[in-house]
This record gives sequence, C-alpha cells and structure tokens, in this order.
Amino acid sequence: MSADRVIVVGAGHIGIACAHYLHAEGHDVTVVDQGRIGGACSSANCGFIVPSHVLPLTTPDALATGLMSLFRPRAAFRVRPQLRPALFRWMLEFARRCNRSDMLAAGATLHALLEASAAEYRGLLQDPALDSEWQRKGMLFVFATDEGLAEFGETDSLLTSEYGLSAEHIAGEALAEFEPALLDGLAGAWFYEDDSHLRPDRLNASWAERLARAGVRFIEDCCLESVDSNGKHVAGLDTSTGQLEAEHYVFAAGAWSGGLASALDCRIPIEPGKGYSVTMTCPETMPSHPMLMPEKHIGVTPFEDGYRIASMMEFAGFDASIPDYRIRQLQDSARPYLREPVGPEVVETWYGWRPMTWDSLPVIGRVPGFDNALLATGHNMLGLSLAPVTGKLIADLVAERPTDLPLEAVSPARFN
Ligand SMILES: Cc1cc2nc3c(=O)[nH]c(=O)nc-3n(C[C@H](O)[C@H](O)[C@H](O)COP(=O)(O)OP(=O)(O)OC[C@H]3O[C@@H](n4cnc5c(N)ncnc54)[C@H](O)[C@@H]3O)c2cc1C
Repeated sequence: MSADRVIVVGAGHIGIACAHYLHAEGHDVTVVDQGRIGGACSSANCGFIVPSHVLPLTTPDALATGLMSLFRPRAAFRVRPQLRPALFRWMLEFARRCNRSDMLAAGATLHALLEASAAEYRGLLQDPALDSEWQRKGMLFVFATDEGLAEFGETDSLLTSEYGLSAEHIAGEALAEFEPALLDGLAGAWFYEDDSHLRPDRLNASWAERLARAGVRFIEDCCLESVDSNGKHVAGLDTSTGQLEAEHYVFAAGAWSGGLASALDCRIPIEPGKGYSVTMTCPETMPSHPMLMPEKHIGVTPFEDGYRIASMMEFAGFDASIPDYRIRQLQDSARPYLREPVGPEVVETWYGWRPMTWDSLPVIGRVPGFDNALLATGHNMLGLSLAPVTGKLIADLVAERPTDLPLEAVSPARFN
C-alpha cells in the first residue's frame, strides 16, 4: 500500500481518531484545526463510551418533547424560535423520522457501530501512553420515580429484544449501597455493565501527543478558508496559515461541517446542538459510577480529582454564551439524586456544539462525486463513543477496502 499524504481538517475526537488509523496504515498525516487540539465539542463532554446508547434521538415521543420546548425557554431540550430555512428543513426531516420503524433502523446502525468502536477502544486504551482515566465501571440509569423506572424498563426490554442488550435492575433499597453518592429513597436503577468512561480532554491531549511523537503533524490556529478543486478532485486547501496539498482530504469539522457544503458541492445538513457542563472538585461522598438521570436529562461523570454534570440540547445556532441559569439548572437537576449535587469548588463551566444530523446517524464516507475527499462528521451525542470506528472506516475507505459495517446508512450520499 502506498504512503499517501492525508490532511485531516478538525482535531476533535473524530479528527484525532482518523489521524490514528490513517497513520497506522503508513500514511503521512497532517491535522489542522482553527483552534486548539480537542478544544471544541470534544473537550468537556461527559466522557461516556456507551455501547448501550443505540436508540437515536428520533424516538416516537421526541416530537412532542421538541414542540413543548418551544414554549419553555428553560427546557433541557430547546429549539430557539428563529427564521432560518435550513433549521426549518432540519426540524421537518427530524420530525419525519420520529416513528418506530425509523428509530429501530437507526438503532441497528448505531448498534453495529457502537459495538465495533467499543471493541477498538478496549484495544487502544490498553496503551499506557493514552492516559485518559479510562474505567470500565458500567453506567447507572437512575430514577427517582416509579413511573420513570417502569418506563425505562420498557426501553430496556426493547433493547434486549431488538439488539440483545440487557441491563441489571437494581431495586431502590439496594441502590445507596451500590452507589453511596445517591440519596436514599430513590425508585431504582438499570445498570449497563459494558459501558465505560474516561476524561475526554486527557484522551485528546495524550492521543495527539502520542501521534505527534510518531510523526503526525498537528497545526493549531489554522483555519480552512477555501477548498481548491478541479471538478470533483480536491487539489489543495487554502488556510489561514497558507496552502496545503495532499492526495486525500478528510473533513472532520464537527458542528461547523455544514459550512463546507458549497465548497464540496453537496448537502451536509448538520446543525449545532449546544450542551453544557459544570466540573467540580470532589465532594465528601464522591460518585463512584458514571450515571444518567433520564428524568432530568443529566449525566454525572466521576474523575480522579472531581466530577462533572452535563446536559441540555439547544438548537440556537452558534451562540457561545454560558448563562448562569444553565449551570445552576445542571446542579439543581442533580439535587433529587445526589447527596452532594454541588462540589466544593467549580473548576470549569463549558458548552459544546454537537454536530447534529436529522437522522441521528453520523456522516462517514466519500463526498459524492469526489475521488479524494471524505467526510467524518455528524456524530450527534456519540462522538467520543464512535471515534475509533469512524477512524477505522475512513482508513478502510482510503485503502478502498471493503467493510462489514453499515457504511451505506452513514454515507453522505443519503442526503444528496
Ligand atoms: C454536554 C455534552 C456531553 C457529551 N457527552 C458525550 C459522551 O459522554 N459520549 C460521547 O460519545 N459523546 C458525547 N458528546 C458528543 C461529543 O462531544 C461530540 O459528538 C464530539 O465531540 C464531536 O467530535 P468532533 O471531532 O466531530 O467535533 P469537535 O470536537 O467539535 O471538533 C471539530 C473541530 O473542527 C475544527 N474546525 C471546524 N471548522 C474548521 C475549519 N474551517 N478549519 C479548521 N478547523 C475547523 C474545530 O475547531 C473543532 O476543533 C457530548 C456532547 C456534549 C455537548
């Protein structure tokens, strides 16, 4: 196999993973980012690697939740009313898929990708150079109410019957012993033992450092400004730091990917879906498991020196504010569950724009018609979980190697 030059645009989880697998094939890889390595949505997310998360956002009841949010500005899932035809189209296409059969089909694709990615991580994260606090402690879905617990029981049954995934049920009385950071008197939980978690910023830093030592070039503060193409062949990239040329180009620009549509002459319907997190120092009773509280839409992640609460999905364009009420809301949402919802010190408040597609599936594959341009984006709420499988698929595509994974379902061609 020839050692080609490859340029990857975007140094988030996805761009770094693409660089890893391309470099492993012997290619000469350069990664450029308009900001810092891992400095955007891949920075302070929950850090969950979750093969259990196979159901897409397009569930039959998502539509009602979305519509209600239009009238509740502080809802966790919120669409800020705005007159933008691209968002209107995105919402319509999303709504069209909020039915059982589309949900199950998207779930089957995500299941295959998540399983393959988790298997890759189990190999990759054995490398001591990838210092990321990775722990295989499973994931607790915690419920304060009997209704919430029972409703999730139905989801668990569906996950078992459709995808062979199953969780352990933990009764309310046994919960505080299983996870001492939880309050007494909760209804119960479901525990998915194959999920794991890590510290995303540490993964990015150590992974990029390891790749850089092996010869991958990272260029920060280098913004892609335009794409030079001869018909359907990319000849080079104009960036804020000069012209770059390669044999292959991988566009892993996360929530910004939609902006590449005209340069690549194809539809890339990706909207930024904003989420927030607050990271605090260790309370006296530190959570020992990663947890999700679906009734309040929050995730809680324990790290070595603190813990993080994260949530929200706002469709509000590229709004970069972090309103105080959103951070208070994260902490207040944890009150019905955690003994100490607020840690001694707030270390970081953060937002990230998730790259959201209307069918909840990533966009991985050749740009339609182009012979040397690939897209690796649209990972919605699962970019960390899906990073290795994405990198592997991109390396397969560059090598023109067949794959057993459902590449057609995630191909950019589905929008074009
Ligand atoms: C609150 C929250 C919690 C989350 N929790 C989880 C979780 O637990 N598990 C999980 O799997 N996923 C989680 N996610 C989702 C995950 O964070 C995203 O799916 C993932 O970070 C997307 O990675 P990416 O590399 O595509 O995008 P990004 O990390 O945003 O990277 C894209 C990069 O492209 C660069 N770029 C864009 N345009 C250009 C340009 N023109 N020139 C040069 N560079 C450019 C940007 O600067 C950026 O660094 C969470 C997200 C949020 C908001």
